[in-house]
Amino acid sequence: MSSPFRAMALRGVPVHTDPETLVQNVTSPVKTGCGFHNVREILRSAGLRPTRQRVMLGWLLFGRGHRHVTAEMLYDEACEARISVSLATVYNTLHQFREASLLRQLAVDGTKSYFDTNVAEHHHFFLEDEQMLVDVPDGLITIGEVPEAPEGSEVVCVEVIVRLRRKNTRAKSSQQASQQLTEA
Ligand SMILES: [Zn+2]
Repeated sequence: MSSPFRAMALRGVPVHTDPETLVQNVTSPVKTGCGFHNVREILRSAGLRPTRQRVMLGWLLFGRGHRHVTAEMLYDEACEARISVSLATVYNTLHQFREASLLRQLAVDGTKSYFDTNVAEHHHFFLEDEQMLVDVPDGLITIGEVPEAPEGSEVVCVEVIVRLRRKNTRAKSSQQASQQLTEA
């Protein structure tokens, strides 16, 4: 799984090769100072009535820079922030935001949907151990030829998900240790 990183490094593009760093970048989001007032504006300009629940959930979603969340993650955050809301409401609200083009939905596997506050076309790393999506910095992935769309349809976008997992360093080091013991 090191090849995409190596390719990036070879092209002289600065990139965090360590999943730990990737995770840190995501879990310490930049505050954008998006207050309730801004959220109401965002909702109104997307044609959504700024109900209390939409404003509260929008504040959690849009107040901390670009993020990728599942309905369950947002529900947990709402509970922590003492926002009284059901998981079903969180789920419905996320889909309303998606329909209003405030979010994009990403299906990483068959079981989980992630919602991305960055609605521009971009690619993702999926950290399998953390079950977390991280944006791939612009310009690091080159798309080759895209097949022509069948008649009557058009290509909307092409997005790549690069799946990452930690290398099994522990197994390797214990293997080395037992080898050293045998040699001694
Ligand atoms: Zn993203």
